[in-house]
Amino acid sequence: MTEHTRNLKENISGLWRGKRYYSLEAFLKNQYGYRMKKVALDAGFTCPNRDGTLDTRGCIFCSAGGSGEFAVSADSMVSAEQIPESGNEPLIAYFQAFTCTYAPAAHLETLYRNALNHPFTAGISIATRPDCLPEEVLTLLGRLKREYTDKFIWIELGLQTIHESTAAYIRRGYALPCFEQAVHALHALSIPVIVHVILGLPGESKSMMLQTIEYLNRFPLFGVKLQLLHVLKGTDLALDYEKQLFQTLTLEEYLDLLISCIERLSPDTVLHRVTGDGAKELLIAPIWSRDKKKVLNALHHRMKLQDSYQGKHWKGSIHYAAETDCHL
Ligand code: SF4
Repeated sequence: MTEHTRNLKENISGLWRGKRYYSLEAFLKNQYGYRMKKVALDAGFTCPNRDGTLDTRGCIFCSAGGSGEFAVSADSMVSAEQIPESGNEPLIAYFQAFTCTYAPAAHLETLYRNALNHPFTAGISIATRPDCLPEEVLTLLGRLKREYTDKFIWIELGLQTIHESTAAYIRRGYALPCFEQAVHALHALSIPVIVHVILGLPGESKSMMLQTIEYLNRFPLFGVKLQLLHVLKGTDLALDYEKQLFQTLTLEEYLDLLISCIERLSPDTVLHRVTGDGAKELLIAPIWSRDKKKVLNALHHRMKLQDSYQGKHWKGSIHYAAETDCHL
């Protein structure tokens, strides 16, 4: 066992709290001493892929609820004013539905302040697109960050893939340099960034997906969400699926892919998600993904059997988080 391997494996009983990767749960316990509940919010946004600015059809996988993570139905969410009381358990107010920076800054300020002022929130997480972070929004985020020193503000960017051919197929609507500019601008404000990646997109080979992970290692990211492609009712992706233009992954294929991604990911990056988390009533395929607990158990079992762990095949990265406190 090399020194490098030994050090990383020490994380399993230490920083990662028994898991073979750095989960959000472990991060929260390390940082704050307790778990937190995420409350998904629908604050009435739309997105440029839906309102006609770029397109009217939305991303090919996106359900009518417009979740940046696909498949959370709008009626399962609460509005920003309806953050529930939770006893003493702290909450993460998650602005999830559609593009949650896509409104005038004054309106955003009211929404974000509502959530930040709420006595039960430990912080807010805002899902958006990298092309929806204009200067006035960045200025607002920087100001709130300086003002609310006891709460966190995270930004979640829907990247999904680095490959332009796939980006065109899914109708993402922005090019890779736009993502890079957004990450650097947010980093300059010390705002932690979480990136969403979809595994199993049509036309993508395993090596293409691993290239996306290797690429992400170059940036000062706080976290990554690795999400299984879900085919949801009412989407254009479902039409292509019905025409048998592509197949979804089997559980075995997904585990193989996911473990390879985790092994290549920087050990400092927090994994906020390792499965899909869509609305079950909308799910067409893959049906096995409905049983999230089974998927997670299978993942943990297989990682142990293979002696697999996050960063096992990590090639190193330019990871600014170690030098600048990007996790707070
Ligand atoms: S995934 Fe996000 S950017 Fe794409 S259509 Fe849905 S809400 Fe808009």
